[in-house]
Amino acid sequence: MTPKQWQAVWRWLIPMLVLANAIVIFFFWWKISGYLIYRPMKGSWLIAGGHITGLAAQYLLLMQVVLVGRIRAFEEAYGFPALNRLHQTVGKWLLACIALHPFLLAAGYAARTSLGIWGQLVDFVQHWEDVSLALIGLSVILIAGLLSFRFVKKYLRFETWYGTHLLMYVGIILVFGHQLEGGSMSNPSFLQFWLWLNGVGFGLVLAYRFLRPFALWFRHRFTITDIRQETANIISLTLSGRLMDRFRLEPGQYANFHFFGLAPRWAAHPFSFSAAPNGKTLRVSVKQLGDFTNALPKIKVGTGVMIDGPLGRFTLSAAQTDRYLLIAGGIGITPIRAMLDTIAEQGKEAVLLYAARTPADLAFRSEIDAIVKAHPNIRVIYLVESQEGDMMCHVGRVDEVCLRTYLDDVHAWDVYVCGPPIMMENVTAVLRKMGMPKRHIHSERFSW
Ligand SMILES: Cc1cc2nc3c(=O)[nH]c(=O)nc-3n(C[C@H](O)[C@H](O)[C@H](O)COP(=O)(O)OP(=O)(O)OC[C@H]3O[C@@H](n4cnc5c(N)ncnc54)[C@H](O)[C@@H]3O)c2cc1C
Repeated sequence: MTPKQWQAVWRWLIPMLVLANAIVIFFFWWKISGYLIYRPMKGSWLIAGGHITGLAAQYLLLMQVVLVGRIRAFEEAYGFPALNRLHQTVGKWLLACIALHPFLLAAGYAARTSLGIWGQLVDFVQHWEDVSLALIGLSVILIAGLLSFRFVKKYLRFETWYGTHLLMYVGIILVFGHQLEGGSMSNPSFLQFWLWLNGVGFGLVLAYRFLRPFALWFRHRFTITDIRQETANIISLTLSGRLMDRFRLEPGQYANFHFFGLAPRWAAHPFSFSAAPNGKTLRVSVKQLGDFTNALPKIKVGTGVMIDGPLGRFTLSAAQTDRYLLIAGGIGITPIRAMLDTIAEQGKEAVLLYAARTPADLAFRSEIDAIVKAHPNIRVIYLVESQEGDMMCHVGRVDEVCLRTYLDDVHAWDVYVCGPPIMMENVTAVLRKMGMPKRHIHSERFSW
């Protein structure tokens, strides 16, 4: 089956699985707690509500880690940006369920005792197994979740936010124990189902997100073999290692990179490969932007690199046609530079619109010019905001006039755009206005 056919299969199968599991959970909740609804006693609806919000919270927690777990089927079917957007939405439902769960239970049981809600909560912690751990876990998940709201996150350094977000895994472990004690788990079939569901879900995440990068490292031992200054603030790192011909990637893809020895910056950073795979080396090109990328030029040849990838669907195999309009802004040239190698090799037609502030900010210029010289089907137009120095470029932006110049028939081309978010939004809006079908427009954003 082709990648596109597999994508279609997963795009059908994944929602089916999510829905089927939700139906099974609801079925067992009704089987076990339904009597609290149809034979109500004091507080029983609240208790039933506490049960279902607890089950929903765990199921949503599982979905949260699976959505960003780099699991191949999910990545191929939807791509990380879409998965991440869903992750942000599901996160809000999760916070609501996980906050409601203890209070609904406490309110329900408090209706039957004289303890009151807070007294009931204290009683849960003192007398119900693993509830004290679960309360700590719940607090960790709530805090990490609240720190992810945009109006809070914008004040945090990426690493600080990322660190608190990874603490979620500690929270997940702490809240799991109390779920196996009585309540819904008194039904052995449901307990088995619940252990299988969570076992498979977390197992897949463990494999893809945590073990795969290590396995790739042990297999390939990626090491930096060359460092090159492309422009004043862009450097290229060439990596090599063992069995490089077995590290398969498609031009346009990216990966998350850990550079050993660049402590304390432990978080992986995503970079697109800036050259097509050649079976010997890999290349990434990085623009200095913040604390991590500003530290990168200090890195030494010989430094080990752990790669979590390849990832992403910004590839030529997503194209509907074999004529490509490639639009790059600034550092957004990297995945497009990789695609250019393959388009040239395949002898296909392409127009590259490469925009930067000044001619000196244009990376890979000599490489691109050499490809254009050798391949008449490929044209490049360099667009700058201001003409500085003696390198001649067009002064201007990728606007409607520009796009209408190169796109004779919007159905006969695929457009690949990568660059500053505002440029990508404007270009996409103009293409849609020109009638270009959505599936002919492919974009890669360098921020999530
Ligand atoms: C799919 C993808 C491909 C990319 N390809 C390239 C490339 O080829 N070349 C290039 O120069 N840049 C690329 N980037 C952007 C690059 O990852 C960020 O510029 C870099 O991580 C910034 O780190 P910093 O600490 O220097 O900056 P900071 O000032 O800490 O962050 C600047 C911005 O980058 C984002 N960011 C920071 N750290 C991370 C992280 N670990 N993971 C995700 N986002 C982060 C944050 O949203 C932040 O707003 C890509 C990003 C994505 C999502």
